[in-house]
Amino acid sequence: MPTNYNKGHGSPNYHTMKYYSTNHLSPMVDFKEATIQGQAPDKGLYFPEHIPVLPIDLIKNINSLSNEEIAYQVIAPYVGDCIPPDELKRIVQETVNFDIPLVGITDDISSLELYHGPTLAFKDIGARFMSRCLGYFVKNESKKVTVLVATSGDTGGAVANGFYDVDGVDVVILYPSGKVSSVQEKQLTTLGKNIHALEVSGTFDDCQQMVKQAFTDAALNEQLFLTSANSINVARWLPQQFYYFFAYKLWADKNNPPVIAVPSGNFGNICAGILAHASGLPVQHFIAACNANDVVPAFMQTERYEPKKSVSTISNAMDVGNPSNFIRILEIFSHKFSDLKNVVSSCSISDEETSNTLKEVYQKNKYLLDPHGAVGYLALQRYLNEHPAHKGFVLETAHPVKFFDVVEPIIGEKVPIPGAIQQQLLLEKKSVKIAADADLLKEFLFSIA
Ligand SMILES: *Cc1c(COP(=O)(O)O)cnc(C)c1O
Repeated sequence: MPTNYNKGHGSPNYHTMKYYSTNHLSPMVDFKEATIQGQAPDKGLYFPEHIPVLPIDLIKNINSLSNEEIAYQVIAPYVGDCIPPDELKRIVQETVNFDIPLVGITDDISSLELYHGPTLAFKDIGARFMSRCLGYFVKNESKKVTVLVATSGDTGGAVANGFYDVDGVDVVILYPSGKVSSVQEKQLTTLGKNIHALEVSGTFDDCQQMVKQAFTDAALNEQLFLTSANSINVARWLPQQFYYFFAYKLWADKNNPPVIAVPSGNFGNICAGILAHASGLPVQHFIAACNANDVVPAFMQTERYEPKKSVSTISNAMDVGNPSNFIRILEIFSHKFSDLKNVVSSCSISDEETSNTLKEVYQKNKYLLDPHGAVGYLALQRYLNEHPAHKGFVLETAHPVKFFDVVEPIIGEKVPIPGAIQQQLLLEKKSVKIAADADLLKEFLFSIA
């Protein structure tokens, strides 16, 4: 492999994997501290001091291993001795105990369906892993932990579901009013108990800004133990590597590794895939498929990273104007643009192209994509047209029913709604409406403390 991956900032020591901040102004921490803190005090993101090299047998014998065994081997070097092996095995097993099939759409393109978890989106994996790790870490703490999270749609539901009724943890979710689908909104506003939903009159970027400000507020942090459950948290980010390995197990032609298209917003998902590749997983190429929010596709052209205000699209979970995890991708490649370009391409797909793709694949191939998957599908199709020797798959990041308000008019048909979702749609929404103002969030957090 010609790519020079990050060789790390410390000496490899598998028992005590340490994480440094991408801003380099905070002390190194272990997995437990990184999970509890979320973001580093210097506002950087935590990154592993070295990228583990996986045992060659894991890849060679992958077809004889269970998903639980694969996942455990992948995550263990990152967790080190912060969680005992038996406990970590239990956590991993509870994280991956649903179907993740690789379904053929055409001869060249398959779909890795990541939406068979409880909230029908890939974020269930990261949220389930993180909630169980955090639950383990706070078991013997006297102070309650408050998980604070901004969502563009699916994070809220997955985090709410993952943390529901976990002892010692309160969850506060901020979401942009009117900008999430009806299924998504119900998933995060109907649970109650330790889950609080704040409906913000603003965009996802506003929500994220408010959360960022709360994390740096001295008075708040003195009284509360705040942490994030966004994909910047290592305990949400790292387990997303699992399903790239599961997909490789299901990939028939091991001599011709897959091109993988990842519908991307905050870039946590694709960054986990690239990390998996850097530690030894065979992958032909990655495609970061974006909607009209094209900061990264523009960067890949110009090498200039220029955050923008996010614009609303029909693939709303990717409406991100300043993707937090992109810095981690640069870190994986030690900020060498030429190495990054070898492994990753990126493109921007319009809403019109998204709907056309969704409709066409449904009519021609009898496969129903969701709008995010459709963005990935078209990006992959274009790439394969130019590289006909390869085949690939798209990560289907959400079940189409989550976006039935978008999907039904496109295909001109009703999307059958699973029973569990129908039940949820009948429940009453309970949210607190607030303006996009960090002081109001502060007030709210003090009020539930
Ligand atoms: C969150 C989400 C994405 C974007 O994932 P990132 O890790 O933020 O890039 C894509 N599709 C769906 C359905 C999502 O919920």
